[in-house]
Amino acid sequence: MIEKILVANRGEIALRVIRAAREMGIQSVAVHSTADSDAMHVRMADESVCIGPAPSPQSYLSIPAIIAACEITGAQAIHPGYGFLSENASFVQIIEDHGLTFIGPTAEHIRIMGDKITAKDTMKALGVPCVPGSDGGVPDLETALKIGEEIGYPVIIKATAGGGGKGMKVARNASEMKSAFQTARAEGKSNFGNDEVYVEKYLQTPRHIEIQVFGDGKGTAVHLGERDCSLQRRHQKVFEEAPGPSISAEERARIGKICADAVAKINYIGAGTIEFLYEDGEFYFIEMNTRLQVEHPVTEAIFGVDLVREQIRVAEGLPMSFTQDDLQINGAAIEVRINAERLPNFAPCPGRITQYHAPGGLGVRMDSALYDGYSIPPYYDSLIGKLIVHGRDRREALARLHRALGELIVDGVDTTVPLFNALLQEDDILEGNYNIHWLERWLAANMNDG
Ligand code: ADP
Repeated sequence: MIEKILVANRGEIALRVIRAAREMGIQSVAVHSTADSDAMHVRMADESVCIGPAPSPQSYLSIPAIIAACEITGAQAIHPGYGFLSENASFVQIIEDHGLTFIGPTAEHIRIMGDKITAKDTMKALGVPCVPGSDGGVPDLETALKIGEEIGYPVIIKATAGGGGKGMKVARNASEMKSAFQTARAEGKSNFGNDEVYVEKYLQTPRHIEIQVFGDGKGTAVHLGERDCSLQRRHQKVFEEAPGPSISAEERARIGKICADAVAKINYIGAGTIEFLYEDGEFYFIEMNTRLQVEHPVTEAIFGVDLVREQIRVAEGLPMSFTQDDLQINGAAIEVRINAERLPNFAPCPGRITQYHAPGGLGVRMDSALYDGYSIPPYYDSLIGKLIVHGRDRREALARLHRALGELIVDGVDTTVPLFNALLQEDDILEGNYNIHWLERWLAANMNDG
């Protein structure tokens, strides 16, 4: 049994894991950089270890420092949160080599899904629908042009090792292919050390729909429906909801079963998210994330489950605490990501919080590591809180979001709260009528977003 978990992360997600552990009677160890000595996750954990200086390569990304912290404190398991080392296969391998438990999937599954071509091939073989495109890597421009002719323009050229929106280029016609192909290759090489690229059809007005899956590592897996995360700025999600306003119960059951069956077949363990573009009633796989997602709370809200608790259970070799039939949707949930950023350009805005008041009441969850007097360091992600609301239906969730945003006080730094207040005035948002381009267009028209 796991008695002590080290949380290899910071901020709200570190608190999230510490809270689940505490409810299970498990001790927690926080790790932190020198810039985070006063951080909430350090205060809230049972023990803490300083693992290095402020820059994350020397602290939150330092595998030797994290393993040493486990040895010093006697933690038997590591939860990676999201970001940092959460999808690093060699980290998982090293953890296992040290006789420790990684709370997440196997190194092999992380490796497969971390390479987009291998991920797509694997998913296709498992019966998951994919975007039409090249079969695997495209070696040269001539082949890319041939595929462009076959599938029809526009196409998108993607670096197999890409991530975070880097290494992707759209070609609207054959004459744009050359520069798009070369740029995607060059970005893959310089950002990820791998210049292999592939080509797929560029969908014009899709929604981003992702399916939450969960496996026990022994061939049993379930799905927990979808999240619609189409509202994105520069490929970063800002507003997520479950269930998706455009997805019917029949579609959910169909794609959900395909996803659950696929991960069951590979004995997947823990939480995973299969991301799709959704257009004209069809789902097209784009990638799988082998970790807990930032937006997991909307799924927790509508299904009434604790996904971190389940991750810990299956890492201990226990079965999941629910079956597919137990998982029934209750109402609707929305999450907004509150970043310390200055509008209209979303420039990071670290600094000291002079006043903080979290909203509360029925159906409101605020996941945040803020407190009065806390200084947000400039070294890390600008996410400072996630406000999650849950209602009996979407309309109630929207009204609750409006009410909760009104109660929230974050003084001392600029935040993205005004963006959400403005979005709640838009009919398209109120009606759930948006796709992956909606927010960029709205920002261009309303915020002079540079
Ligand atoms: P990353 O790993 O960099 O996040 P993804 O493959 O997940 O890359 O794609 C990120 C975003 O790029 C998607 O959410 C979507 O907005 C856009 N995108 C990716 N593939 C396509 C496609 N075939 N057609 C249209 N848009 C796409």
